[in-house]
Amino acid sequence: MYYNNEIETMPRADIEKLQMTRLKKALHAAASTPYYSKIYGEAGIDVSKITTFDHMQQLPFTTKNDLRMSYPTGMVTVPLSETVRMHASSGTTGKSTVIFYTRRDIEQWAEQVARAMYSTGARKEDILQNMMGYGLFTGGLGLHYGAEKLGCLVIPSAAGNSLRQIQLMQDFHPTIIHITPSYALHLVEVIKEQGIDPHSLGIKKAYFGAEPYSDATREKLEQLWGVKAYNCYGLSEMNGPGVAFECAQQAGMHIAEDYYIAEIIDPETGQRLPDGTEGELVLTHINREAMPIIRYRTRDLTRIIPETCGCGKTHRRIERIKGRSDDMIIVGGVNVFPSQIEAVIMNIPEVGNNYQIILEREEGLDRIHIKVELYSKLFKGDLKALQKLNKEIVEKLRALIIVTPRIEFMEPGSLPPSEGKAKRVFDNRVI
Ligand code: AMP
Ligand code: ZN
Repeated sequence: MYYNNEIETMPRADIEKLQMTRLKKALHAAASTPYYSKIYGEAGIDVSKITTFDHMQQLPFTTKNDLRMSYPTGMVTVPLSETVRMHASSGTTGKSTVIFYTRRDIEQWAEQVARAMYSTGARKEDILQNMMGYGLFTGGLGLHYGAEKLGCLVIPSAAGNSLRQIQLMQDFHPTIIHITPSYALHLVEVIKEQGIDPHSLGIKKAYFGAEPYSDATREKLEQLWGVKAYNCYGLSEMNGPGVAFECAQQAGMHIAEDYYIAEIIDPETGQRLPDGTEGELVLTHINREAMPIIRYRTRDLTRIIPETCGCGKTHRRIERIKGRSDDMIIVGGVNVFPSQIEAVIMNIPEVGNNYQIILEREEGLDRIHIKVELYSKLFKGDLKALQKLNKEIVEKLRALIIVTPRIEFMEPGSLPPSEGKAKRVFDNRVI
C-alpha cells in the first residue's frame, strides 16, 4: 500500500520527534556556513538552544534574495568535491538561486519522488513520459530519478517539440505523463489536430506541476486527456518536484514531512498561523546535507489541511497553491519578476515612464504583451526607426524571459498615470 510503510504512516508524535532530531542536525550544519554563521552570529542565536517547533520562531527567515546574496556557495555545508549536482531556479537572470546536492541528497530526493508516485498508484510497470524541462530546472531530472528509482521506464522527452512528443506516445505507450498544465492544454489540441483521439493513447495518470492552475483546469485536463490528474508541488530551493504531492485521493498534497518542517505565516507580519488558516508556506529543509535551508519563505499561499487523509498517510497535506505573496509571475514556465522587465524597459532612453504588462493564454501558450509609452518626439518619428527600436526591446526582453513579448508603442500620456501603487501587471490568463 505504501512505498515506505514506516515513514509514511508514522504516528504524528514520532514524525515530530524525527523532525526535531533532523532539525538539530540541519541547524548545526547550517551554522557552519558563511551565510548562516553571520546571520545567527549577528542575531545572537545559539542553534543548540533551538529544540522545539516553537523555538524555531526565533530563527530569521531565509529569502530568495538571501540566496542571491550568498551566491554561489554561501549556504553550502560541504566542500564542492562532496557534491554531485547543482540546479537553479527557473528565473533567467544572472545570479539566480543555485542549489547543490550530495550523492545522498540526490538519492533521498529520488526516494521522495518514488514514494509520492507510488501513492498515486504508479508501479514499476508504468512508463513515464517526462515533458518537463531538463537542465538547470529541477522538473525534468527531479522526477526522472524518482521514477527510475521506482523502476519505471522513463522517456526523457523534455518540454516542447509537440509532434515528437506525440510520436513517442504512439510508439512507447506511456501510462503516466509529467507536464505543466499549460503545456498539457496546448499539446492536447495538437494531438486532436493530428486526428488522434487523446483517450486512445492509453495514458492513465498525469502529474501536473511547476505553475499554478485551478481546480477547473484540472477537471478540464482530466476530461481532455482521459486521465487522473495529480498535483505536484516543488521549488528548487527545497529540492524540486516532490516537496508535496497528491495521493490517490486527489485531495491536497502530502508534504514529505520527514524532509521538511512546514509552517504557515502571515505574509505581512511574519507571525505563525494555526493549521487550517491560509497564509504563506515557510519550509525548512531538514534532510539535505549539502544545503539545509532554514525557514525559507516560499511566497506561495496555501493552507495546511488539518484533517487526516483517507489514504492513511500521516504526513499532512497542503491545499492547491492559491497565489503568491510577492509579484512573481510564471510565464511559459519561467519565473519572472516584473521588476526585471521594468529594468530592461527603463534602460532604453526612448521609452517614457509608463508601461503595462499584459499576460494572456492562447491554446495553453503564454503570451506576453507589453505596452510602453514613448517620448513625444519619437512617437512622431519615422516608422523604420520605430520598428528598429521595437525589435531591440523584443530582443532584450527575450534574452531575459525566454518568451517572445509583443511590444506595443503607446502615445505619451495614453496609459493611465500611476496613482500611488501602480498596477502594471494584468494577468488575463485563465488558469
Ligand atoms: P522553481 O524553483 O523554478 O521550480 O519554481 C518554484 C515555484 O513554482 C514555486 O514556488 C511555485 O510558485 C510554483 N509551483 C511549483 N509547483 C506548483 C504547483 N503544483 N502549483 C502551483 N505552483 C507551483
Ligand atoms: Zn492521502
